[in-house]
Amino acid sequence: MTTRYYLWTAGCQMNKADSEKLAAGFGRLGLRAVDRMERADVVVLNTCSVRQHAEDRAYSKLGRVRQLKQEKPALKVVLMGCMVGLKSDDLRKRFPQVDVFARPQQFEPILELVQGPHEDLGGEFWPTTCAIPEAPTAFVPVVHGCNKFCTYCIVPYRRGREKSHPLDEIVREVAYLTAHGVREVTLLGQTVEAYGHDLPEQPDLGDLARALSALDRLQRIRFLTSYPRDMTRRILEAVAGLPKVMECFSMPVQSGSDAVLESMRRGYTRAEYLAKIAELRALMPRAGITTDVIVGYPGESEADFEATCALLEEVRFHKVHVAAYSPRPGTIAWRRLADDVPAPVKAERLHRIEAIEARISQEIHDGYMGSVQEVLVEGVRAEQPFGRTRSGILVHLNEPARIGAMADVHIEHAGPWALRGAARDAIALA
Ligand code: SF4
Repeated sequence: MTTRYYLWTAGCQMNKADSEKLAAGFGRLGLRAVDRMERADVVVLNTCSVRQHAEDRAYSKLGRVRQLKQEKPALKVVLMGCMVGLKSDDLRKRFPQVDVFARPQQFEPILELVQGPHEDLGGEFWPTTCAIPEAPTAFVPVVHGCNKFCTYCIVPYRRGREKSHPLDEIVREVAYLTAHGVREVTLLGQTVEAYGHDLPEQPDLGDLARALSALDRLQRIRFLTSYPRDMTRRILEAVAGLPKVMECFSMPVQSGSDAVLESMRRGYTRAEYLAKIAELRALMPRAGITTDVIVGYPGESEADFEATCALLEEVRFHKVHVAAYSPRPGTIAWRRLADDVPAPVKAERLHRIEAIEARISQEIHDGYMGSVQEVLVEGVRAEQPFGRTRSGILVHLNEPARIGAMADVHIEHAGPWALRGAARDAIALA
């Protein structure tokens, strides 16, 4: 029987969550993880295709797997994740060394590969693939795929249309996680507020958050990633009224220029985006909001870029993830738009955004000095416990603290990336 597996994961939290589930499934089937593919009986490459660079890394791994399979023909090889996409015919021809091609969340064919048909496993896969986490926090994908088709993005072609998990299954999964020590879940979706519209009862994210809030052992709920047009008043009012939902949102804007937003087909104007931020802050004034920005998108003029800088100054995001545009084969922008912003200009714009971000983050963090913040202790790094504020800011603790404890932390130091402080609540200390 197959006994050792090597699992390589690229990309976002959705992929990481899938890998955790698959690892849990493997664990329950008696397989053991190894850290080098040369020592494995099963190799799983969980891929990302958002950027060409991420795919190139997977191709390089596939090259190594081809050699290994020649040396060890019994080796079982799985290619999973976004690279597999909706059609895998082309991949099958190119990579005959792969035994199973599995799309995101498609665990069954992988588990069958190592352990025989589904029935042999005793029926239902859940919770076979429900990971028992080591940390008190867990990612829970609730909706997969995306219907938006932004011009620069490959996700809708690879992950398909939005597909939600039934509400009762998510509640069951989170209850299982909390029974195993999880105190905070982050509900994941490419556009997480799209949750539920494809289900028969059409629950929304607010309904899901309400159902999860009823779980006694669950203390915190977060979401990732928000899309302004899907973030309805109904959802906002629901989550604002639920104390277990953290005041923390990730809402990519991508550009502050209407011309660029239209070219990107983002589906909102600058004014509509700002109106959504205002609506959110009216309900949750202390919300921490982060965003994503692309600089150097085709046709982005200096004035377009200045509009983005002005928007960042106006909104004052807690964090800005900035990337220089690079054409992604297969996307609308790659087919139709010239990549016409010179690389040095892209680099200069990227650094200007980073400078704005660092200054504003520091100013926001300075505002936390002397305050007391509720922090869930998530883990220990370099012998220092860490966790996050309700608004999502990383906090390092001065003293030892029990992982999983909820601590009231007096903030004594504020840097651009994190806060530091002392836990006041004796219960939190180890
Ligand atoms: S909303 Fe746009 S950028 Fe986000 S996953 Fe969907 S298509 Fe991609």
